[in-house]
Amino acid sequence: MNAPSVLVIGGGVAGLAAGCYARMSGLRVHLLEHNRELGGVCTAWSREPYLVDGCLRWLIGGAPGGMFRRVYEELGIVPELTMHTIETFARIEDPIDGWSVAYTRDLQQLRAQLSALGPADGDAVARLCDAAAHSSELHMPIDAPELASWRERLASLWQMRGMASTMLHFRGTLGSWLEQHVRSPQLRAGLGALGDARMPAAFLPMVLGALAAGQLQRPEGGTLALRNALVHRFRELGGQATTEATVEQILVAHGRAIGVQLADGTTLHADAVVSAASAPETLTRLLGGRPLDLAWTERLERWPIFDAIALVSVGVARQWPELDAQTIVRLRAPLQVGDVPLTWLPLEQFVGPPYAPPGHAVVQSILRSRWGYWSELGPRYGAAKQALTDTVITALDGRLPGLAAAVRMTDVATPLTFWRHARSWQGAYEGFLPTAENFGAHVPKVVPGIANLWLAGQWVEPGGGIPPALLSGRQAVQLLCAERGCAFTPDEDVAALR
Ligand SMILES: Cc1cc2nc3c(=O)[nH]c(=O)nc-3n(C[C@H](O)[C@H](O)[C@H](O)COP(=O)(O)OP(=O)(O)OC[C@H]3O[C@@H](n4cnc5c(N)ncnc54)[C@H](O)[C@@H]3O)c2cc1C
Repeated sequence: MNAPSVLVIGGGVAGLAAGCYARMSGLRVHLLEHNRELGGVCTAWSREPYLVDGCLRWLIGGAPGGMFRRVYEELGIVPELTMHTIETFARIEDPIDGWSVAYTRDLQQLRAQLSALGPADGDAVARLCDAAAHSSELHMPIDAPELASWRERLASLWQMRGMASTMLHFRGTLGSWLEQHVRSPQLRAGLGALGDARMPAAFLPMVLGALAAGQLQRPEGGTLALRNALVHRFRELGGQATTEATVEQILVAHGRAIGVQLADGTTLHADAVVSAASAPETLTRLLGGRPLDLAWTERLERWPIFDAIALVSVGVARQWPELDAQTIVRLRAPLQVGDVPLTWLPLEQFVGPPYAPPGHAVVQSILRSRWGYWSELGPRYGAAKQALTDTVITALDGRLPGLAAAVRMTDVATPLTFWRHARSWQGAYEGFLPTAENFGAHVPKVVPGIANLWLAGQWVEPGGGIPPALLSGRQAVQLLCAERGCAFTPDEDVAALR
């Protein structure tokens, strides 16, 4: 008898992970991807002689003992890729008020810097650094919580008991925590520059804790290396992928997903469907406007999504050796990204292979933007891209003198680019924004009322990111196997599968 067949919609990292786990569990897999290439937003592109890295700044939890280590091992990411531990996560610079802070792995040093920025905020700084030091106690089970026994759930809660008071203290938003606990405007700005004010405050100690524990890493070769490792693993496991295949509809008969219809009219049938496309795409478009249950309706209506971004990259015939981390600089005059004025400019330098020839660099800025602005430009789109490039080059030159004269390549990815190439819904490149409400909330990977359909991807893991997206693919297949009565076998002997 043939093994059950699975259609996976979307070849981002979540779809690739779902495909890998389905193959490891002996299922037949056909992955359908809208774009010409696999990877989704986890991608990089060539602009000779430069490479624009469109994604990865840091990969969390992959060092020995890290909470995602096992998933990376199962998917052939570690130890296959060489990982470099990030020593400095970001530098925040305010040349107007004359201060700066470097978020380094050394928590003592960081504590001293933060205390100097806010001498009257000793309590808040101590609370933050202590919480960061203990955040390694945070434990995230990698198996689908639906399948966990009560004993396993209790064990998991017990493991995190040391974090209870921290989670309680940091339970609100980043913005409200800063307002309530931090008096110094400099310290507020220095901490606030790390994330959106609507995000959970707990994000701060978690990231700083992961940094301190050496759990923020970057693979050698960057995004491209990571994407290629996953694609390689998928193919080596015998997965089949068709690119430039846009799914228009999920076919449903008698309350069960039975296949998909593609934009070119092709119909494909399968025993199960996993959608790793965005939740709005899957639930509102591909299911043809079927009524949703209350929980999904509320999520789609109430949960904010990530602000769209414009990614501006310039290839330059020089380097800035002192620029060793992502740097966020306060501007003297706001920078207009379409109709969004920004007062802080993030920038990062990429040097060496595979990014730039010797002596050259790619300097990149990820800028908050607005979907509505770019989607309504029509024929003015090209001019708006050019205007943004010019403005950003001028702003970058303010921090990196000589940059403007050394520019050899420019590249702008707007929210429309993210939609065209990865179908990022309204340019929300990481799905639902994590908020105090949805942070840690478990989003079921099913659509009530439709059997045989599982959801994976960053939209079922608020906050997005590579590891949660990979994990969602793993859990979707685990649930599928449990439902269909087949064995989920991700870890039999990873080497033997090759
Ligand atoms: C600039 C940037 C920086 C980032 N930095 C980091 C970082 O440092 N660390 C980190 O962990 N994460 C980072 N992320 C986030 C991370 O890349 C994403 O969360 C993750 O890659 C999402 O994977 P996904 O598979 O869930 O979704 P996507 O990558 O969005 O994949 C969805 C795929 O489905 C396809 N698709 C959608 N609809 C259809 C359809 N109807 N038919 C066929 N195919 C369809 C799309 O084309 C796409 O390929 C960053 C992202 C960006 C853009």
